[in-house]
Amino acid sequence: MRLIASFAAFIASGSAAALAQQGTTRIVVLATGGTIAGAQTKEGGYGYKSGSFDIKDLISAVPNLDKLAIVSGEQVVNIGSQDMDNGIWLMLARRVNEVVSSPDADAVLVTHGTDTMEETSYFLSLVTKTTKPIIMVGSMRPATAISADGPSNLFNGISAAIDPGAIVRGVLVVLNDQIHYARNVAKLSTTDLQTFQSRNRGPAGLTNTGAITWFAKSDKRHGMTSEFSIEGMTQLPRVDILYASAGMNADLIEASVKLGAKGLVIAGVGDGNMTTLALDAITAAAKAGVVVVRSTRLPSGIVYRNNEVDDNALGLVASGELNPGKSRVLLMLALSTTTDVVTIQRMFNEY
Ligand code: GLU
Repeated sequence: MRLIASFAAFIASGSAAALAQQGTTRIVVLATGGTIAGAQTKEGGYGYKSGSFDIKDLISAVPNLDKLAIVSGEQVVNIGSQDMDNGIWLMLARRVNEVVSSPDADAVLVTHGTDTMEETSYFLSLVTKTTKPIIMVGSMRPATAISADGPSNLFNGISAAIDPGAIVRGVLVVLNDQIHYARNVAKLSTTDLQTFQSRNRGPAGLTNTGAITWFAKSDKRHGMTSEFSIEGMTQLPRVDILYASAGMNADLIEASVKLGAKGLVIAGVGDGNMTTLALDAITAAAKAGVVVVRSTRLPSGIVYRNNEVDDNALGLVASGELNPGKSRVLLMLALSTTTDVVTIQRMFNEY
């Protein structure tokens, strides 16, 4: 197995502006695994194992990175991001907060699998306290594949991290020449290189061989303006996601409540809708003190409050633009401070 670094010429001809920086920005790469660190199980085949390479291998596979920044690497975990969980989120967020509070680091880059990057990035954007850039990078092709995209994504991620425009933008996801706000990005294709999209609002910017173009700033709360903190937090409350469909019944909703869920997110049909049976069950759950958020199984659009469902009367929360995974992240953090649905709806409007 060897890392393919065939894009050396492409990188070597990188943006003069970026290369002129001569590597004075200090960037700490916190690695968590994923396809970017993955190896094919057999040469030329499409099967692969996530998290096969160490972060030092990945950094050394990107020519001229030292011309952009002083890059050091640290392996936090080495997993496929389908195995990401609340405990690792808390550990990772703590480590990011430690690194950014050090005068020795100017920015953090987190490598991560793409499967759950939209959730991890949103979690980090809500609980990390800094104006320094925090950039997340993954890849769709394993490190041993022909035209592996990890090295160019790393190069572009580092280019974004050293760009002054990244400051105060919160956690950003860089993949396939696009930069996305953590809040807005979602994985929309199982295998396409262009998997990450911000369907409602569009990307935060573009990268072109290290040259960065920024689009509009996000008006949503994150980072220094976030009211959430993981200080002293050892666990997050149980929040389950239930997927709505034609014929959805009440059983799984009732089971979640019985199993101790403090919050439920319904990946509703359309505008956060569900069968009458399911709506009755979540109304009963809400009356019993479980906070229920109506989100949608659709990849874009807004779940409106009091549209087809009378959220005021039923005591429910509408997710707005947040998809089910992000709704779960926000609801877990919200529930660690309050169970008041009016306050939690306010949080869904602001974050
Ligand atoms: N399951 C892998 C992961 O999320 C594949 C996705 C990727 O990294 O592209 O780590």
